[in-house]
Amino acid sequence: MPQDRPVIAVAGLGIESSTFSPARTEAAAFHPQRGDEVLTRYPFLSSGTALRAAADWRGALVGKALPGGTVTAAAYAELSAELVERVGRLGRIDGLWYDIHGAMTVEGLDDAEVDLLTRIRAVIGPDVLVSTSMDLHGNVSRELVHLSDLITCYRMAPHEDAMETKERAARNLLSLLTSGAPRPVKAWIPVPVLLAGEQTSTRIEPAKSVYGAVADVEAAEGVTDAAIWVGYAWADEPRNRAAVVVTGPDRTAVSTGAERLARGFWEARHDFAFVAPTGTLGDCLDEALASDARPYFISDTGDNPTAGGAGDVTWGLQQVLSRPEFKDPSGPTVLYASLPGPSAVAAVEKAGVGATVTVTAGAETDDRHAGPLTLTGVVHAIRHGDRDAGTEVVLRIGGVHVILTRLRKPYHHEHDFTDLDLDPRTADLVIVKIGYLEPELFAMAAGWKMALTPGGVDQDLTRLGHHRIRRPVFPFDTDLADPDLTARIVPSPTETLNRPDR
Ligand SMILES: [Zn+2]
Repeated sequence: MPQDRPVIAVAGLGIESSTFSPARTEAAAFHPQRGDEVLTRYPFLSSGTALRAAADWRGALVGKALPGGTVTAAAYAELSAELVERVGRLGRIDGLWYDIHGAMTVEGLDDAEVDLLTRIRAVIGPDVLVSTSMDLHGNVSRELVHLSDLITCYRMAPHEDAMETKERAARNLLSLLTSGAPRPVKAWIPVPVLLAGEQTSTRIEPAKSVYGAVADVEAAEGVTDAAIWVGYAWADEPRNRAAVVVTGPDRTAVSTGAERLARGFWEARHDFAFVAPTGTLGDCLDEALASDARPYFISDTGDNPTAGGAGDVTWGLQQVLSRPEFKDPSGPTVLYASLPGPSAVAAVEKAGVGATVTVTAGAETDDRHAGPLTLTGVVHAIRHGDRDAGTEVVLRIGGVHVILTRLRKPYHHEHDFTDLDLDPRTADLVIVKIGYLEPELFAMAAGWKMALTPGGVDQDLTRLGHHRIRRPVFPFDTDLADPDLTARIVPSPTETLNRPDR
């Protein structure tokens, strides 16, 4: 039945969590928002927008954490129980927008997003329409498609279209409810490829063209939405791999579209390369010093906190500080972001700007590659109140400005540096624990190289030791025969799913 002003619940938990990192994620890291506060997350649902007025949107609970280690069983139990209970308390609803990431790993549980949606379905029943929105680094099992009516993800990496994707998921759900159209047909195709995000940036080929085809498929008659997931390479569950889903009213159109996208991804598999030249950290430093390009950026990729690294691996900084070129304060200016060390930060705060201090930081969570680092330097800046870091301080050691944080924080924006009285534009080298550079840094970088360093998100995937992913899968297995890339039509939530997850 078409609904004039449907009631739509908003709920979800999102994190990308590495099972190869010794770090663990607790409930507070999700910064959960509850009730009407949930709606404040989304500019397109702010009061006064047409979308807001067109439905009765009701927040249950939405929590999003920075990428990190596996979520503890206790944290998931607490958050999921509250989320499900809050959905139940909303009363009768017509639709639910499930806002997730899709790469949450939980201790002792596979396919956590399916577990959560199964429990939500137990409360709301099979008839309520569910629209699921995800990161393209999430994983899509047949069960997740079964439990959803619409399902989509970002089309850009870096994710410049994150909010646009969420809005599309919400808008398509609303249209479905107000039109009274039948439930969409869902064509799902798993693609046996598992790649690092840094090999699949949509800024460059082949991902640019592979993802470029999504808009064409979506524009076809009989298609509502189309999406390609790269999947998440740093977790070891059977569901981790690439996938395609196309949804819409027409069975033939969604099948044809899904097969085109799956084939495009599969055929490009050998062409996915890192988005920037790669090398050992030593090679990258040599090249940066020899180059005239300034500022020259180096990604310290293995411990990237936005991919799930612990963030406190000291290996990279240790290499940088051991270079003779950086010992002299009048030599090249190097910015290093960053290393968590709560007790070091407390000692620096106490000493104050301008003081010379000796502190020890890092390797509290991940000490597999190097131990805690003892640093002697001059305090350059102290800043309080950061959402992620809490407190940040800068120590100048020779020509190297090392950012130390109370808690781990990603450094993605120019202001992350200028707030600390550091100017990345006039620096010689900027070394960041990151994979591909986020847009502001990318625009500023005159030179850039990615260092393949060790850590929980090591970019050299085949040396990590996956045991549970489905095989064969590229590039873990080579010389693969062409897989079955025909569309699997996944049943509606009112029907039973009795096929294996293939
Ligand atoms: Zn992502």
